[in-house]
Amino acid sequence: MESDQEHQDVGASNGQDHRGTGPPGLEGVSPGTHNVSEDSSRLQQAGSESGTPDEPTPSPQGLQEPEAEDIKTVPAGDTIYASATSFEDLNLSEDLLKGIYTEMKFEKPSRIQALTLPMILTPPHRSLIAQAHNGSGKTTCFTLAMLSRVDPVVAQPQAICVCPTRELVAQNLMVLEKMAKHTTIKATSSLAGTQFSRNHRITEQVVIGTHGTLKNWMSKRILSFRFARILVFDEADEMLKMDGFASDSVRMIGTLRKDAQQHVQILLFSATFNEKVKNYALRVVRDNGREDANQVFVPREDLSLDVIKQYRVDCPTPLDKVSVLKEMIFPQCEKLGQTIIFVRTREVARSLHAAMENEGHRCTSIRGDMDNELRDKVVNEFRNGTTKILISTDVLSRGFDVTQVTLVINYDVPVEKDWTTPAYETYLHRIGRSGRFGRKGAAFNLVSGEQEKRILDSISEYFKHDIPEVPFNDEDEFLEVLKQAGLTDG
Ligand code: AMP
Repeated sequence: MESDQEHQDVGASNGQDHRGTGPPGLEGVSPGTHNVSEDSSRLQQAGSESGTPDEPTPSPQGLQEPEAEDIKTVPAGDTIYASATSFEDLNLSEDLLKGIYTEMKFEKPSRIQALTLPMILTPPHRSLIAQAHNGSGKTTCFTLAMLSRVDPVVAQPQAICVCPTRELVAQNLMVLEKMAKHTTIKATSSLAGTQFSRNHRITEQVVIGTHGTLKNWMSKRILSFRFARILVFDEADEMLKMDGFASDSVRMIGTLRKDAQQHVQILLFSATFNEKVKNYALRVVRDNGREDANQVFVPREDLSLDVIKQYRVDCPTPLDKVSVLKEMIFPQCEKLGQTIIFVRTREVARSLHAAMENEGHRCTSIRGDMDNELRDKVVNEFRNGTTKILISTDVLSRGFDVTQVTLVINYDVPVEKDWTTPAYETYLHRIGRSGRFGRKGAAFNLVSGEQEKRILDSISEYFKHDIPEVPFNDEDEFLEVLKQAGLTDG
């Protein structure tokens, strides 16, 4: 049985993976570029949240605004930043404003945007560490930041965005393309299947990619940082995790600072920063005291936890987890929106998928070792609603936005790589896949055995959030809690 945890290989590179665990078929195996408009249409087709430009605007109700008093800002230095009340306050180009109003259909900045965009766009363009949940408008923050800070006349990479998975690269590219529609700014990403030749040089102003591919492009000098002005890390805490991408991220920041002819602004965005990672991030960004970063934090407890109803299901044996899925969850799935079932390993994803299919239940699964084409197909089918139930390793636990997801099942409770420490941030990210954009959401945690129970207890304690039990074999109770969570009418 394969025993590696999925998060060990997310975004691993091209056989040069720094931890030496990169199996074939991952992002970065086929570094290449893509035709931006082709990608755009492919992604739009795949089911954009916002629909086609002709459709009525669905976006404003998509925001999940934190309370103003819950947002903590720590400005560095003595620059005074006025919160932006309109996008006009931000000195954006006409072309960008047109994108914001006519393509994105935004009317005014969200709270997080109103606070962070002036910090990002006002000289001296200090770096920023921001904790804000998906749904608060953070993608717009860093997308707009990149688009405003690049010079469209200079055909050189100037804004680099690093993401932990190819699915996030796709999502961010889609938003950026849409917002940039009326500008002449070009973007490229690590998504395309075509290979760059050795003497190719990237000329697009914005480059979005996973670590593996960007590292590969850097080493082959396909990607130059000479003109770089802004570097964004999406899901930054994942990118700075000691047992994850930290060394690669720090190396990239170092190379960029060394190669760039001008000051590089670094933006670290994430929905979760634990204290250790936050302090580390501050140290990295401060560059031995040469820089001081601004900080914006929405307290983590306010993210997701109150919106999503969470339950525990104590299963006497691991096999009972399968029965719960088959007997309690799957029969309801038609009535629910869409469901993501998170598992710990690729092997469990594979075997659970096979077991469900054998029983005649329709579902798909996604793992980091699938080839990119298949991975895109599975994601696209889920996005456009062709499939309703998706079994996933943690490859999709972060930032994956599908509005119709109402139910998350933690088939395995999330643990760190030592297999015993609860993965608190991952828990929050996983359950946050449901209840997107103000919709209802619920999460069932299936636990079997003392260790899993202990892990879930610690998660509940850590977030100071009670997780009530639903008996594993009581169908009426399942129906009742789904109703209470607002997922069914009864
Ligand atoms: P994000 O957190 O960036 O993923 O944004 C969450 C949702 O809110 C997306 O559907 C965005 O299109 C939408 N959104 C972001 N900024 C704004 C805004 N200023 N006004 C209205 N909707 C927004």
